[in-house]
Amino acid sequence: MIRHVLSGRMRELCSLPERFAPFAREARNLILSYLGAESLEESLESAIEKCGRRPTFPLILASLCTASSLPDCPTGSLYLDRSGNIAIRQSSCIYCGRCLKEGFTSYARTELLRSLEILKSGESVTAIVAPSITGQFDASYAELESALRRVGFNRVVNVKIGARMMAEIEGKELENCIECSDWMITSCCASIKELGLRLLPVIEEKHSSAKTPVEYTSALCKEEERDGRIIFIGPCLAKISECSRNANVDSVLLFSELEMLFIAEGIVFSKNSDSSRDEDLSPLSRTNGISNAVRSFCSHLSSAISYSGIKEAELALFSSWRRGERPQADLVEIALCSGGCISGPGNTSTFLKRS
Ligand code: SF4
Ligand code: SF4
Repeated sequence: MIRHVLSGRMRELCSLPERFAPFAREARNLILSYLGAESLEESLESAIEKCGRRPTFPLILASLCTASSLPDCPTGSLYLDRSGNIAIRQSSCIYCGRCLKEGFTSYARTELLRSLEILKSGESVTAIVAPSITGQFDASYAELESALRRVGFNRVVNVKIGARMMAEIEGKELENCIECSDWMITSCCASIKELGLRLLPVIEEKHSSAKTPVEYTSALCKEEERDGRIIFIGPCLAKISECSRNANVDSVLLFSELEMLFIAEGIVFSKNSDSSRDEDLSPLSRTNGISNAVRSFCSHLSSAISYSGIKEAELALFSSWRRGERPQADLVEIALCSGGCISGPGNTSTFLKRS
């Protein structure tokens, strides 16, 4: 199946129109760099051997490409090395994937092969799926569930369950904050978590104490099925980083990697699918999604503000909070990508063609 998936994906990449060249290059680099060699065929077997453990090498590697100007990076982590190649300062990279989306870098730490090993292990495997899967395929949510079963998952659980648990806890916490004239940050964004850990401690300090939606959902699934395996399916590299700290999640697939599995299994969705019933899933993956959910658990919330599509100007603003200035709101929601996870860097080619 692995050989089938990878060769299926390579065929698909070769047939993409020119406009998707950066996407095709990225996916090809992804496969080859994971395999650690120039030749797909030669290194396949050794790569499969590695699948049993989580890779420990850096999440993103700069590709050896030269450029006249550097791509946009919110943390200024990209620079030109002595040979004029684009390089990444790993210590300040927050895995937002913006440079990847623009075709300047490739990422080496895919968990695609590891996920495939789990799927063919014969164990019970649960897919926990980010709500932003809506719109990634020409399919209704019900059709996606059945496609996921076809590629080997036994159970499909939507992370919106965990998002609601997070919102309930945050709503109660915010009531207390407002009583003390304080304010709070909420975010489901794994890159914002990295930002707080690596560069801006104020984000960690003012963030609610709630866990992430993936943490709540995976803990719930583990409670229901102790021996089952869990694969998170989501929009970006930063989620791979988040899940590497979560013992309940065994592996991660990006939407673009799930697309590879569907292609390999010959799964084709009808373009006339009725996805109107999926409307309740997508708000959580858009700007304001979480603050609206928190609002329903906090009766005293009068003002909330959202930031998305974060650039250096927003980072400067967040830094000012560290110096004691506060935002003009009780609740601040932050997502790195413009509009939220719906425009994450791990989108499918179906999504990219449509947008
Ligand atoms: S992934 Fe984001 S933070 Fe990291 S180098 Fe690329 S643009 Fe910068
Ligand atoms: S907004 Fe969503 S897709 Fe974008 S970096 Fe954050 S978690 Fe990933």
